[in-house]
Amino acid sequence: MPELPEVETVVRSLEPALKGLKFLEVHTNWKNHVVWGEGPFDELEGSKVLEVKRRGKFIVIFLENNYVIVVHLRMSGRILIREVNEEALKFERTKLEFEGVSVRFCDVRKFGKVWVSTIDEYEKLSGISRLGIEPFGDDMSAEIFKNIFAGRSGVVKKSLLDQSLITGIGNIYADEACFYAGIRPNADLKSLSKKELDVLFDSVMKALNQGIENRGTSISDFQDAYGKNGSNQEKLFVYGRGGEPCFKCGTTLVKCKVASRGTVYCEKCQRA
Ligand SMILES: [Zn+2]
Repeated sequence: MPELPEVETVVRSLEPALKGLKFLEVHTNWKNHVVWGEGPFDELEGSKVLEVKRRGKFIVIFLENNYVIVVHLRMSGRILIREVNEEALKFERTKLEFEGVSVRFCDVRKFGKVWVSTIDEYEKLSGISRLGIEPFGDDMSAEIFKNIFAGRSGVVKKSLLDQSLITGIGNIYADEACFYAGIRPNADLKSLSKKELDVLFDSVMKALNQGIENRGTSISDFQDAYGKNGSNQEKLFVYGRGGEPCFKCGTTLVKCKVASRGTVYCEKCQRA
């Protein structure tokens, strides 16, 4: 599933292509893929794209006249920019048509979603309103991070994945952050000291920043809006490497389930 760095990569490739273009229409061949708000939508056609942003793992396209289109790629979705008249791509479910260019939402497993609404409705309609703090938001800091996690019970990874606490972290970056921090994904949050939480915060930010710098992790089928792979898969220490030797100490990496997700860690490097 695309996580914060992958969605950020898509947004950065999408915005220059769409900014200033008039939105024309949305076509879908899978009814459940597109959710419409209450509108009114009488000025939607012809409204220009003002900006394309990311919130958590959501792509948010702001249009003139207070319209917003939100896209969530979920499990297997991908976004590709194509000529308007080019034929449908494999697994294409929804096409957003702009002046001279179209955005194709291909989605093998059909879990993805597009919400079209006014600016008053979009957060509630898409579920963005339930998201927690943005890792790269102005209001994020080590202090805030500690306040969110201190005193919480349960395993570290479960809280890292909880989108209502901090948004954007998924399986890849949770495992990598825990490795950087020297903390086991199944450690009890309550057992961590303030200092360890500080280190965990730095490690989360390091993992996410590195993912963005490398334009995402292309392990399954992630690509940007032009079909270009990221390179962060070459930088991963633990994710997807269960049973292989740790790059740092050579110990065989443990593969297990934490928070019902496949999880990999190093017993020697991650002691907390
Ligand atoms: Zn190790």
